[in-house]
Amino acid sequence: MHLVMIGGSDAGISAALRARELDPGSEVTVVVADAFPNFSICGIPYYLSGEVTHWRNLAHRTIADLEAAGMGLRLDTTARRIDVAGRKLLVTGADGREELLAYDKLIVGTGAVPVRPPIGGLSGPDALGAPEGLHLLHSMGDTFAVMRTLETAAPASAVIVGAGYIGLEMADALTVRGLQVTQMEQLEEVLPTVDPQLGARVHAELTAHGVEVMPGTTVQAISRAEAGQPGRLQVHATAADGTPVTRAADMVLVVAGVRPDTTLAAEAGATLGVKGAISVDTAMRTGLPDVFAAGDCVVTHHRLLGQTYLPLGTTAHKQGRVAGENALGGDRQFAGSLGTQVVKIFDQATARTGLRDHEAKPAGFDPVTVESEADDHKAYYPGSHKITMRVTGDRATGRLLGMQLFGHKNAEIAKRIDIAATAIFHRMTVDAVSDLDLSYTPPLGSPWEAVQMGAQAWVRDTRH
Ligand SMILES: Cc1cc2nc3c(=O)[nH]c(=O)nc-3n(C[C@H](O)[C@H](O)[C@H](O)COP(=O)(O)OP(=O)(O)OC[C@H]3O[C@@H](n4cnc5c(N)ncnc54)[C@H](O)[C@@H]3O)c2cc1C
Repeated sequence: MHLVMIGGSDAGISAALRARELDPGSEVTVVVADAFPNFSICGIPYYLSGEVTHWRNLAHRTIADLEAAGMGLRLDTTARRIDVAGRKLLVTGADGREELLAYDKLIVGTGAVPVRPPIGGLSGPDALGAPEGLHLLHSMGDTFAVMRTLETAAPASAVIVGAGYIGLEMADALTVRGLQVTQMEQLEEVLPTVDPQLGARVHAELTAHGVEVMPGTTVQAISRAEAGQPGRLQVHATAADGTPVTRAADMVLVVAGVRPDTTLAAEAGATLGVKGAISVDTAMRTGLPDVFAAGDCVVTHHRLLGQTYLPLGTTAHKQGRVAGENALGGDRQFAGSLGTQVVKIFDQATARTGLRDHEAKPAGFDPVTVESEADDHKAYYPGSHKITMRVTGDRATGRLLGMQLFGHKNAEIAKRIDIAATAIFHRMTVDAVSDLDLSYTPPLGSPWEAVQMGAQAWVRDTRH
């Protein structure tokens, strides 16, 4: 059995590892467009900040580790065309030579590429780029380009276009490096994946660390600074009230989300679904014979919403594992995402899982969200912090639908959101969260765990 994976990131490598684990006799080839298989691109901001001291440290596993696990790596090799009927993959190697790889099963893990919003100076023949200090950020190649700008141009200021979690992590990272950062976001508040009440707290944390935050600001164009103007680049934008605003910056980072990279699969005849991602069933089958797909290039099965598109590393790992198992003839199903995620911005962390009101309503729920606060551990023990919780439940059934948390980075926000994720996964009611037997010692918690107090506030408010 020869399995070929296209893509050497979370999905492709997870698939390869699972296949080799289940059948050490299987032949597994991973085709990777660059030379950086199994790198933790989630860690890029911490390398760029200087907290992770070498880019090699971002490798989940070294090339030697991957080879020792039994996979054949074809690095700097780009998959060009899938011959579905002939079960062959046309690739171009590092030397430019074309080759046909025969496969029994193929797993497409081509991931996502950064969105290029319609901003003057970003696309087209006269587009600015890394040499001028204008960057996108997704791959290790992008990372090296940003690092080159940081090290060779010694920028003093940066504009970050976009205030999703990657843009915010980069605001933190560049501030840690000593740059003056301006963050522009066209939506009304930063971190639009959480309610604006929590986004406002993230906003305050950015401001407290010297970041100039400009929500409601749509960037129109990025141009070279003229002689006599400050900075290397000028960012031209429009504020929410229509007023033109311009900022000078030595570098600009555009981090406006990703879109699935599906050209290869689509040209082979795969069906595309939500947001143009490859349609797969929960076994990660594409519908094309012997072709599976996983990760940021595919639609996401959501436990509450059905099909959506929610590109996350955690999901890519799980889907890859399912695809690897099923490519060997298994019958594993991807159990579905809840969009559970967490981000650290300076000294605070924000997390969410499940649904917010505006997502729950169209899915047929009658959502109510109740905000409350609790201490992360007994306040009499030094170092306690308040956690702000927004609990969303269904008014009709009392079912827990979602939770959002904001609090100090040491307040176990990530692990606390995982309690909620586990409860939602198992279709628990908000009230039943109080029945969970959770741990307690005063320096680390309270007899009623904070998340249980949040659940009780919801029950009190809604009289459930
Ligand atoms: C800065 C940053 C921070 C992030 N932080 C988090 C986080 O904290 N938590 C989280 O859950 N997620 C995070 N993510 C998202 C997470 O990294 C992605 O969801 C995950 O990497 C997706 O994995 P993937 O394998 O599907 O695709 P990708 O990581 O996009 O990888 C695609 C792979 O396919 C290869 N490829 C593409 N086309 C071809 C071709 N034609 N031939 C050969 N190879 C090809 C690429 O070289 C690459 O190896 C972050 C992403 C970024 C950029």
